[in-house]
Amino acid sequence: MEINPISVLHEYCQKKKEANPKFHASCAVGEDKKVLYQISLTVQKKLYGPVCAPSKSKAKTGVAVLACNDLKLYHTAGKQVQKPNKSTAKTDLNIITQLYEYCQQQKWLNAKVELVREEGEPHDRTYALRYTLGGREFPVGAGKNKDSAKQRAAARALSELKEAPLRVFLKHDISFGVTVCEYAWEAFGILCEELGESSDFCQTSQLACFLLENLEDGTFRVVGLGSGNGVASPEWQACKGESVIDCHSVVIARRCLLVFLYEQLIKLFSSSEEENIFQFAPAPYLASLKPQYQIHLYLKEAPCGDASLVDATAVKVEKKYNELAPHDHEKVYNESKKFGLVKNKASANIVSCTDKILLWNVLGVQGNLLSNFIPKISISSITVSRHYNASSLARAFCCRYGNSIHHPWIQHGIIEGVEKSNNTGHEKSWAIYWTHGPMDLKEDFEDLVKNAGILNSQTGTHVKGSNRYQEIPIICKRNIYLKYKKLCSMTKQKYRDEYSYSYTKNLCPQYKLDKNSFFMRLETLELGRFPIIDSNVDKFWLDDGDTNKNCKKY
Ligand SMILES: [Zn+2]
Ligand SMILES: [Zn+2]
Repeated sequence: MEINPISVLHEYCQKKKEANPKFHASCAVGEDKKVLYQISLTVQKKLYGPVCAPSKSKAKTGVAVLACNDLKLYHTAGKQVQKPNKSTAKTDLNIITQLYEYCQQQKWLNAKVELVREEGEPHDRTYALRYTLGGREFPVGAGKNKDSAKQRAAARALSELKEAPLRVFLKHDISFGVTVCEYAWEAFGILCEELGESSDFCQTSQLACFLLENLEDGTFRVVGLGSGNGVASPEWQACKGESVIDCHSVVIARRCLLVFLYEQLIKLFSSSEEENIFQFAPAPYLASLKPQYQIHLYLKEAPCGDASLVDATAVKVEKKYNELAPHDHEKVYNESKKFGLVKNKASANIVSCTDKILLWNVLGVQGNLLSNFIPKISISSITVSRHYNASSLARAFCCRYGNSIHHPWIQHGIIEGVEKSNNTGHEKSWAIYWTHGPMDLKEDFEDLVKNAGILNSQTGTHVKGSNRYQEIPIICKRNIYLKYKKLCSMTKQKYRDEYSYSYTKNLCPQYKLDKNSFFMRLETLELGRFPIIDSNVDKFWLDDGDTNKNCKKY
């Protein structure tokens, strides 16, 4: 059995009733411009390290080993589930040649590339460049040196000129799917360590993550993370919006994303626009996602519902489509009366995760309340590790609905350890959530517990004895409604205490209209209906006084 040195230190401190071990991170650029993470550690006021490693978790484990050895604590030097080997991505040099060839064909003279920004400490500088071609300015590309910034700017220009996804022009030695997968598991690995859970638990958990990509410099950030696959039993469902009813990993992760979006909007109205993913937008909206940001979804396996059903007659095309660009969907889509139907979650009156993703691909992932403030946000790509089947996923996520839907980039992405693992980690019926929340966009991934909780998926409330026991979950409807209220007061939008959550949910006329036509179209296509949820679930008010006796206000 594996004994993780970081968990050992946490246990040791708890037993000794000492403060938890504290990691201190600083990022250093090593030789060959490779990023090295430098981490030191304080245990019982004694400082260990620093230790440098190419990934944060390796550096953390390394320095924990120093402390364990010094304190004579037994461990097995924590073999991590993730194999982080990123940041070595090399862009295809050819991209600049390709761009110049394109310009020659167009007979564009005076192609120009200029430095638009240069920032950061001398050892950690970022350069931002932009092409001007045929009299038109193209999006900025940024990087740690001028060459990589130039390559990214060229790729972004080509992607606009050829109206194709940026991915097509970025050739990395690590595939995009693997990159997404690595980020997801690294974040979950750090969270499990901080929660004192074994890496075995981590590996066997169901996992879903939302990631934010900055197209300008190619950086990724996990912004919402969820594990779990249970549903709260009926007596816990109408709990004044305080319990989380649907605890399937992707639904949890999406609520974490919503909290992050609210926090960003609140920041936009209280501090500078520069460090925000949003920018102010013309009416009827208040803000919109800046064009350099995209949202990606990672799923450990094909979600429940139609996506997990495989049409045997379509399997032979699979191998070719480890990456499925939107314009290739029609090549793998196989319409069949047997597949594509709306499904419920096992033994619950709640729609499957696949059908929720279908809905997000039509209406956007931001949902009803946020639609009062921002335009639709689409999920750019969906990465699946296990049970990846391009034709099933394309059918289930978008193609069965026809053309008036966003077809995301779909891809396979896997790292060592994920393929073998089953989902026994959820025998405990736990659902773990973590939201980026109000964290700064450049902040290090540590102290994740601050914005995380462990739910008992049978009750939708925090697990007894866990860090937030007796608090209401950060991601429950009530808290999300509270953030909505806060945003309304900051932006002088109408909000009234006498409106219930379910009433407010229907206030955005466009969203309501679009949702109705979504349901009507499903009927026309004979795909079935979404179940009707108990109306008491959403019937709660923010000023309704005494909250459930099991929960306390957050
Ligand atoms: Zn599900
Ligand atoms: Zn499609």
